[in-house]
Amino acid sequence: MPPQQTIPQMLEYVKHLPVKRYCGRYAWLNTDTGETSVFFCGLASCGRVYCQRLYYLKRVRLISDLIREYDLSRFLTLTMGHKLARCDAWGTMPHVWNKARTMMVRKHPGLQYCTILEAHKDGYPHLHGFVSHYIRQREWSNTFAACGGGSYAWIERVEVVDGDVGRYVTKQLNIARYVGKEQVITARQMVKPRARTFWRSQGMKTEYEQTRQAAKSSAILVTEDIYHQTEKGFDKRAEVVYSKSIGQWVVRMTSQPSVKE
Ligand SMILES: [Zn+2]
Repeated sequence: MPPQQTIPQMLEYVKHLPVKRYCGRYAWLNTDTGETSVFFCGLASCGRVYCQRLYYLKRVRLISDLIREYDLSRFLTLTMGHKLARCDAWGTMPHVWNKARTMMVRKHPGLQYCTILEAHKDGYPHLHGFVSHYIRQREWSNTFAACGGGSYAWIERVEVVDGDVGRYVTKQLNIARYVGKEQVITARQMVKPRARTFWRSQGMKTEYEQTRQAAKSSAILVTEDIYHQTEKGFDKRAEVVYSKSIGQWVVRMTSQPSVKE
């Protein structure tokens, strides 16, 4: 577990995380063309800045698609307050949210939501949510406090620039106004490795998620060291070739890495 600290301290910690052992070494193989490309893990816990960015961008894409496709036009912030110690607040937040949203969904049938965990600059957690109905701030605040959370709640209308949402760069800018990159990455470090940091209504799936499966079917991950990172970039140390005699893809060494690792 990482030290339970404030955001500046956590960011320092995140900066010095080691790069995942397999990140940048394995390859994606396109089974139609035989082309390979470097595999990056895209985890927030990887020391590669690129992977942390990928992690955030995946979240941005998911959230903006959900907002658009399910019309989640109300933005919500729920806090934990300072009743608990920092580390306890992180552990308790998911339970509080589970209880609170069960109550809210029961009271407002058809309420849809997606929420994401973020780290506040003082090191405490808060939740950002996008919901389908307008519910008064007082009701959110009372419900959340009754379930063990803080009493501070904030709700506002999501400003989505119509027509621009499909453009990726705009999406990122748009969502970044609500969900911060450093806050999301830090939150990932603050909870246990497999703990949740994102919640959404049951059965909620974006079009992208539904079509991605089909697109991925012609790509496979080759879990052998194909690439070797140098200062200039990624050198191929092996290639994947199709062996007709055994009827499958095999890894063949092309060169030995010149630099000792
Ligand atoms: Zn990585």
